[in-house]
Amino acid sequence: MKKAFITKEKAEEIAAKFPTPFYVYDEKGMRENAEAVKKAFAWNPGFREYFAVKANPNPFILDILKEYDCGMDCSSLIELQISKALDFDGAHIMFSSNDTPFEEYAYANKIGAIINLDDITHIDFCEKACGGRLPETMSCRFNPGGVFTLSNGIMDNPGDAKYGMTREQIAEAYKIMMSKGVKHFGIHAFLASNTVTNEYYGKLASQLFELAVELKKETGADIKFINLSGGVGIAYKPDQTPNDIAVIGENVHKVYEEILVPAGMDDISIYTEMGRFMMAPYGAVVTRAIHEKHIYKEYIGVDACAANLMRPAIYGAYHHITVLGKEDAACDHKYDVTGSLCENCDKFAIDRNLPEIEMGDLLFIHDAGAHGYSMGYNYNGRLHCAEILLAADGSFKKIRRAETPMDYYATFNEFPIYEKLKAENVK
Ligand SMILES: *Cc1c(COP(=O)(O)O)cnc(C)c1O
Repeated sequence: MKKAFITKEKAEEIAAKFPTPFYVYDEKGMRENAEAVKKAFAWNPGFREYFAVKANPNPFILDILKEYDCGMDCSSLIELQISKALDFDGAHIMFSSNDTPFEEYAYANKIGAIINLDDITHIDFCEKACGGRLPETMSCRFNPGGVFTLSNGIMDNPGDAKYGMTREQIAEAYKIMMSKGVKHFGIHAFLASNTVTNEYYGKLASQLFELAVELKKETGADIKFINLSGGVGIAYKPDQTPNDIAVIGENVHKVYEEILVPAGMDDISIYTEMGRFMMAPYGAVVTRAIHEKHIYKEYIGVDACAANLMRPAIYGAYHHITVLGKEDAACDHKYDVTGSLCENCDKFAIDRNLPEIEMGDLLFIHDAGAHGYSMGYNYNGRLHCAEILLAADGSFKKIRRAETPMDYYATFNEFPIYEKLKAENVK
């Protein structure tokens, strides 16, 4: 059973102030989870979670994570600038980018972020961007190639992924970087996405720990941290068993004791860059049913669309839906729940069994707290909706306003049409 973290009454109370659709975030849930993550890795004194900013770049949310000593995992200039503006220091900013523009390395270096190189050919490029001198602490991203499998059948294909360096390249990269003055190193890898199993981090960690031992032998590099990156999933579907971060932390601990400690590498810090696990369950889209349509199938049209939450449209991703106020009603109607985009993939659910939906009902689309708002786009001239933070005491506040037509038109401001558009939007 998946339960919405707000009631219909609360959702209507919010909607009376901030019209639907909107994102709502559960502050209590995200705080408890951040605490649990910290606790799960407390055995490692240097542990730090660098939240993947791309999953949810809202400054209010990042500020909450800051209270738990989280760092920020950035992959673009904008994400770096937001982190800097929130007063994260360099040690709390990881720059894990790929296909990185020159200016972004330069900026990351300027603010003292830890740069995680995606490729061996970036060494010289990054050195130039850093004004001719690489930072003292750097990281390299590893891609072992082949197929990564877990015992429950979860599979991913690092060999097809554009990220990271081969085994030979990473040793070579360390040597080159050492010759250029880099003193402390990290290893990073991201081998499988949204893994709903407690096994993933432990298995990845054992691979990376062995690699660390080998790299130290081969290159003499001083390895300071191992970054397990993201990939820890959440139970989007009601029949899935959620990951238990305490078990995951213990699995990593076990292989740390087995591999790193005997090798005398017992001072290595464990870093993570979780996005989804940190935030997905604690955000939802609240949207109102505005149309019903009876043709070859039964459709419910809502006031949100794929421009607000793109995952179902682009990945066919499942997002659970609760019809607020009808939590206990029988799911005896089968619907496609659609948005308004002129794209047939704009469906939040297909053939979904739900309670009978009446016009005006509020739908709670679960697990949209990560890769939700941030993936939104403006296709069809649809605008980003507002984001609302719900506190433990039931109070709520706007943490990002909805876009307005003038936001959309802002990039026409050098052209005559802008004034005409402005005139259309005078209230
Ligand atoms: C996307 C991403 C993450 C976060 O992944 P999740 O699956 O959301 O945890 C972490 N690190 C890097 C480099 C990423 O690109």
